[in-house]
Amino acid sequence: MCARVCPTEVLCEQACVRNTHEDKPVEIGLLQRRATDHFFPQPGAPLFKRAPVSGKRIAVVGAGPAGLSCAHRASLLGHDVTVFEARPKLGGLNKYGIAAYKSVGDFAQREVAWLLSIGGIEIRYRQALGAQVLLDDLRREFDAVFLGLGGINLLGLVDEDIAGLGNAVEFIAGLRQATDYAALLVGRRVVVLGGGMTVVDAAVQSKKLGASEVTIVYRRDQQRMPASTYEQQWAQRHGVTIRAWSVLDAIGSSSGHVEHVTFVDVVDRDGSLELTGTRWTLEADTVLKAIGQTLVFADPTVATLALRGGRIAVDHEGRTSLPDVWAGGDCTFGGRDLTVEAVEHGKVAAMSINRSL
Ligand SMILES: Cc1cc2nc3c(=O)[nH]c(=O)nc-3n(C[C@H](O)[C@H](O)[C@H](O)COP(=O)(O)OP(=O)(O)OC[C@H]3O[C@@H](n4cnc5c(N)ncnc54)[C@H](O)[C@@H]3O)c2cc1C
Repeated sequence: MCARVCPTEVLCEQACVRNTHEDKPVEIGLLQRRATDHFFPQPGAPLFKRAPVSGKRIAVVGAGPAGLSCAHRASLLGHDVTVFEARPKLGGLNKYGIAAYKSVGDFAQREVAWLLSIGGIEIRYRQALGAQVLLDDLRREFDAVFLGLGGINLLGLVDEDIAGLGNAVEFIAGLRQATDYAALLVGRRVVVLGGGMTVVDAAVQSKKLGASEVTIVYRRDQQRMPASTYEQQWAQRHGVTIRAWSVLDAIGSSSGHVEHVTFVDVVDRDGSLELTGTRWTLEADTVLKAIGQTLVFADPTVATLALRGGRIAVDHEGRTSLPDVWAGGDCTFGGRDLTVEAVEHGKVAAMSINRSL
């Protein structure tokens, strides 16, 4: 999946030594993609072999890139892994979030099937931490626990009950699961709030699904948008307008449905945003929010975990404030919310768990 979704132009290609000595970096994303596309249809000999069984048991909560990576590495190291996943399908945002045009042909599920073929990983579907399972029970039953819960979007910025006001991640999840795109509800005039990849994906996909006007509104300058320049240009090539230096002021909805959105311009004063008082309005019937991720805890023991910035605080090995609990991916503080990073967190935590056991 990394070969398909990583912004390699900023992560690796930007740092490639060939930028200095040649004029072009190694196109690592395309090379990875070529290798994996070649391997998957005819896997041949397994790429990985499990170590002898250790007799230790590890619980992994969440089957996104972080959880699956942790499960795979822990199994590779000889431990038996049980994965608890709230949804009926595995893959996390690989399955429910990543734009459909980046991952065609149900690649996410094929990758999961390959990953599980290593053995030693049991899956329990529809088992949500805080509902069907509790952290204390997992801590009693297993030698170590890894939390790969992902991020949850909760804004609380504006009246959440206005029709036409939605969450970009949910919009994309609905799209990824849809069998008939024609039956999807897509606005004619869509406003997407934020500056990351979710925003670009929601905007481009709205446009591709027939919206006539799509505008991304970001609170700082365009250079500072978390979405890479390539992604921004991708959006603009699809007719999406990007407006910077403005924050949401109000959503007009006299009929109970979004009718227009008012923004107020801001300026940067010593690193803080200051309202200028200049207001402008966009006609809109749909507003998609994709800003801010805050973790919600429904489990009393999870709620005791030390947090930073609303997410789980971890050290460089993914250790949480509880001695036998590790965490990684979007639910932890300090990352960049990228697939490759979640995968790395899962792997590093599995190796840390292994050392600790
Ligand atoms: C729309 C969108 C587009 C993106 N595009 C890109 C991209 O192009 N490139 C890129 O690198 N990154 C992209 N990202 C970011 C990337 O998808 C995430 O950083 C990555 O998926 C994080 O992995 P994770 O395992 O931490 O979380 P997730 O992928 O969110 O997986 C978490 C898993 O935990 C499960 N879960 C949640 N709560 C519970 C619970 N209580 N009990 C049990 N299970 C639970 C969820 O169902 C899910 O399966 C995108 C994100 C979004 C939202």
